[in-house]
This record gives sequence, C-alpha cells and structure tokens, in this order.
Amino acid sequence: MSTFSESEERQELRKAVARLAGKYGREWFTEKARAGEKTTELWLEIGKNGYLGINIPEEYGGGGGGIGDIAAVCEELAAQGCPLLLMVVSPAICGTIITRYGTDEQKQRWLPGICDGTSTMAFAITEPDAGTNTHNITTTARKDGSEWVLNGRKVYISGVDEADNVLVVARAEDARTGKVKPVLFVVPTDAPGFEYKHIPMEIVSPELQFQVFLDDVRLPGDALVGDEDGGLVQLFAGLNPERIMAASFSTGLARYAIGKAAAYAKERTVFKDAIGAHQAVAHPLAQVHIETEMARLMTQKAAALYDAGDDFGAGEAANMAKYAAAEAACNAADAAVQTHGGNGITQEYGVAGLLVATRAGRIAPVSREMILNFVAMHSLGLPKSY
Ligand SMILES: Cc1cc2nc3c(=O)[nH]c(=O)nc-3n(C[C@H](O)[C@H](O)[C@H](O)COP(=O)(O)OP(=O)(O)OC[C@H]3O[C@@H](n4cnc5c(N)ncnc54)[C@H](O)[C@@H]3O)c2cc1C
Repeated sequence: MSTFSESEERQELRKAVARLAGKYGREWFTEKARAGEKTTELWLEIGKNGYLGINIPEEYGGGGGGIGDIAAVCEELAAQGCPLLLMVVSPAICGTIITRYGTDEQKQRWLPGICDGTSTMAFAITEPDAGTNTHNITTTARKDGSEWVLNGRKVYISGVDEADNVLVVARAEDARTGKVKPVLFVVPTDAPGFEYKHIPMEIVSPELQFQVFLDDVRLPGDALVGDEDGGLVQLFAGLNPERIMAASFSTGLARYAIGKAAAYAKERTVFKDAIGAHQAVAHPLAQVHIETEMARLMTQKAAALYDAGDDFGAGEAANMAKYAAAEAACNAADAAVQTHGGNGITQEYGVAGLLVATRAGRIAPVSREMILNFVAMHSLGLPKSY
C-alpha cells in the first residue's frame, strides 16, 4: 500500500459493500422508485452488516470508524446503481452532530437506531424564503419553562416519510446578548403540530423530498442538541461530512454511468467495429473517467483530513471534492446517455434517470455557486461578493 492508496481494510470494505449492493442492483432500485415503494430491505441489510453506522462510536452501536469509511459505503452503493441519499443525512450529518454535541443520554437514545437502520433521522435546514442564505432562516424556537416551542416552515427535506425524527435547525434568542442564533432540535415526526407534504420531483428515487410545517411543536428540554448559545459551531460540525458524503454519492453515480456506457460501447456495432472504437465515443468516456478519479482523490483527501481532526483543512478539500464530484457525475451521465444513442433515453436502459439524479448534486446540499464563492474567498483571498 502506498500513501496514495486507501488502507487494505477500506478496500475490503468497498468490495463487501459492492457485493451486497450488487445483489439488489439498479433495476431493483428503479422498479421500487417507480412503484412508489421503499428500499428498506437494502437499508436494513447495510445496517445489520454494520455499514450504516460505521462512522459512529462503538459504544452507541456504530463501527468506530471515520467519515472516510461511511463515504466509501455511500460511494459503493451508488456505483452499483443504488444511491441512498439518506446516508448523507442520517448517519453522516445527524450522526456526526449528535456524536460530537449530544449528551450521553441523547447518544444512547438516538444513535443505535441510526446505526442499525431502524430509526432514520432526517435533517431540515432549508427554508422557502431563505434558500441558500441559511442565516435568514425564520423557524423560531421559543423557550417556555423547561420546554421549547418551534414554529416555521422547511422545504426540500429528504426522507421525512421514512424518518422517526428530524434534526431541525431553528433560531433562538441568546438570553445574554439578545442575538438570534441557530439551535438544533430532534423533532419526532409524530409530534403534534409537525406536518409534511410530498414535493413531486423528477428524480427516479425511492427517497422523496417534502415541505415541513412546524406549528407550535412543543418539545421537552432534552430535545435540544448541544449548547443553546453555541449553535453555529455545532451546525458546522455536520457540514464537512455532508459535503464529503455528497461527493461520494456523485462519484458513485459517475462510476455507475461510466461502467454502463463502456460496456455498451464495447458491444454495440453499427458500422464495422463496436462504437467504442470511434474516438468520438471513447474520448468523452475517458475524459469523465479522469474527472471522476480526480474527484475521488479529492474526496479521500477531505475525508482523511477530517478524520485526522483537521476541520479547517477538511473544509476547503470537502468543498472542492463536492464541486468536482458533482461536475464529473453530470458529465458522466450525459456521456453515458449519448453513448447509448436512442436507448439512452429509454427506461429499459436506465441511464436517462441519472441525468436528474446527478444534476441535483450541482444544487444540493450546497450549490456549485456557493462553493465557487467559498473557494474565491477562502482559497484565493478575493472579496466576499454577497
Ligand atoms: C434532491 C434534494 C434534496 C435535498 N435535501 C435536503 C434536506 O434533506 N435537508 C435540507 O435542509 N435541504 C435539502 N435540500 C435543499 C438544498 O440544500 C437547497 O436546494 C440548496 O441549498 C439551494 O437552495 P435553494 O434551492 O433555495 O436555491 P436558491 O437559494 O434559491 O438559489 C438559486 C440559485 O441562485 C444561486 N445563488 C444564490 N445566492 C448566490 C450567491 N450569493 N452567489 C452566487 N449564486 C447564488 C444558487 O447557487 C442557485 O443556483 C435538498 C435539495 C434537493 C434538490
């Protein structure tokens, strides 16, 4: 093993997850999605095998590994055509924040279910009027004796229908300074006043997006995760894992698209040789393969920095990885469709569905423009533009 290879253990993990996901495959995944069904069997099987909570400490039911491990799981699932978006949310964002800032009692309550897949946690920050500008969120948390009362509205929240709880970002007034700060609450999806409504999307996925309405949702004091005066740092703890996971989701999808396209290009013959013999077909595939490998390398760098405790260094790498991976995945899906000709648009060949799935990676969880803003400011020292 050289410095530029992942550990043997990580490589074995990748192979094991690929074998497991390969038993299910893309056809099974898209059939479930089109029938409005869930992929719960796969979710529970990865949980049972210890892959879902691989980044969470062992004493709370996890594997005691790092973000690099769960990112590898996420990538290999997507590379088999079974991308699970809720992995980004439940174990990586929510699991990380609760592990870092929850009390021991909160960790005991929520982490084991996140690890074995029996109690998924969604994450809600985006709001209709704030969008990318999360400093403008208006969901409020008001203290009432020992309890909290939440009011507000969220949008594009993934997997609420499959979740027992949602980690909600709200604003509360700092008792000392009077300033409003972000605070995090675990809200049960069956809490009185918590409602949600499906948003029809063009993505072929069993994991759906929702509007969420919080109407005088009353929560006990111990629903608050972390310090009520220190929300921003706590929220940021989930951002690097979120970006590393989103990058892995994209590189997995890119690998799936490239694999399908290369196989087709070797087989399909319309003139004298297979279409892959034409450089016009081969070069775009070689190009997206290079882009994907570069994005994977940056993702592994970001994960290695994060797991070594370098949150600051990981921030730049995680943003760059997420950007590069989303671009590679969009280009890979486009090249895969083109390679398939008319078949590229059919449901039977299953590549056109990747166009929207990969495209979402340019928008969520953070848009490509906001990453470019970050790199312009933090890496290049250019003025803030917004
Ligand atoms: C499939 C999917 C799943 C999602 N899941 C979740 C979830 O589970 N939980 C959750 O909280 N959210 C989720 N989101 C929301 C996602 O994080 C937001 O869509 C994203 O942050 C962008 O916000 P917006 O859609 O409001 O776009 P807007 O903020 O309205 O932005 C519109 C466009 O303007 C650009 N723009 C805005 N400001 C600037 C600027 N200063 N400089 C340059 N360009 C700018 C943006 O980059 C974007 O291209 C999900 C979204 C999708 C598509």
